[in-house]
Amino acid sequence: MKKKLFDAIDSLAPSLADLFKTIAQRTSDGVGISRDAYGEVETAAGDILIRFAHDVGLDAGYDRVGNVNVAAKGRLAEPATILIGSHIDSVPRGGNYDGLAGVVAGIGALAALQKCGDGAAHGVHTLGFRGEESPWFGTAYLGSKLLTGQMSRAEAENLRRFDTKKTLAEHLRQLGVNLDDLGRPAIPLDKVRAYFELHIEQAPLLEDLGKPIGIATAVRGNIRYPFAKCFGRYAHSGAVPRHLRADALMATAKLIAYCDEIWHREIKAGHDDLVFTCGVFQTNSTEHSMTKVPGEISFTFNVGGINDEVMERFHREAMAKADALAKEHHVRFEFGTRVGTGAVGLDPGIAAALDGTAREAGIEAHRMPTVGHDAAMFVKRGTPAGIVLIRNANGSHNPAEHMEMDDFTVGLKVLTATVSDMTASRR
Ligand SMILES: [Zn+2]
Repeated sequence: MKKKLFDAIDSLAPSLADLFKTIAQRTSDGVGISRDAYGEVETAAGDILIRFAHDVGLDAGYDRVGNVNVAAKGRLAEPATILIGSHIDSVPRGGNYDGLAGVVAGIGALAALQKCGDGAAHGVHTLGFRGEESPWFGTAYLGSKLLTGQMSRAEAENLRRFDTKKTLAEHLRQLGVNLDDLGRPAIPLDKVRAYFELHIEQAPLLEDLGKPIGIATAVRGNIRYPFAKCFGRYAHSGAVPRHLRADALMATAKLIAYCDEIWHREIKAGHDDLVFTCGVFQTNSTEHSMTKVPGEISFTFNVGGINDEVMERFHREAMAKADALAKEHHVRFEFGTRVGTGAVGLDPGIAAALDGTAREAGIEAHRMPTVGHDAAMFVKRGTPAGIVLIRNANGSHNPAEHMEMDDFTVGLKVLTATVSDMTASRR
């Protein structure tokens, strides 16, 4: 069966490569790729995917909440037992593969399973979610939230797209979605045994390891302060001695350096999934000067990981240090509103199955944590989920996103064979 399946995937690969090219051409903004959430260009990508699915003998259309939905011939109306999904939108001026790779993989998997016959594709649905990327409406996972009933009509009426100034509800209405249905799952989720997602890696770790694919163990959560500030007192740089200063920059710099120490210590203790970033660190440009002691710093605090307890411990230590530094430097930290999400565990059984399939095919996959994907919305509703990551040397959310078709094919084979094993256990 596997040989037949892998041959089917190899024979499909050139047309899948063309599909990526066709969508890139149609959704290019001149510099990168801009597939706008619940907008015209995203719909154009969805239409191309649906047309391709028809061409390879599958059934396809848009579901009740506007996502692309693909199934084996004559099976579109049947409830799904296995879902393969990812998103069709991109960030503004992004790349071609973040999201799209997973939808193309799902269609490729269905086409290959159907070609092998024996009902292997029955019950498998591929979903192309709209609106996963947060820049458009200020929040992520819209398509998968709508499908799984995790967004009410009131919420859809409150979210506004940054460029069109229209609400999500207005965008949905334009696509013919009935808003009365929102807040309830659009499919019977209790029938779904597993959710699979293939996604390009968003960092160059696999590239660094020389491995084509990764298998995700968990989705990182985070604790964030997007608008933290430190207030000191502006003073003359030449005149004021150290002990009389309230230097906001010195205190904040020490805090960030201390966070790096905590981080390093946690990594040495085995928590190598932990990440810490201070992405914004600035003096107030209307008041700062070379000859003034800085009186104000704006900064961001962003710790992520797969273990909520470790993140909380990091946070506690950082806050205690901030208190101590405030006293030492006569400054005041105002962290503002804490935001973030908890870590999401992926299914160990599915990860082991993906790993087993990879090993059987002679492929060495790397187990690793990942960042937020639509899969998290299914885990939240109790559906076991697994994620296959594809090597990408250039990071994501930029026009240079890179994916070798050979790596994609490897990932597609592992994904499809694992799905096939699952449907075989049911057949
Ligand atoms: Zn993505």
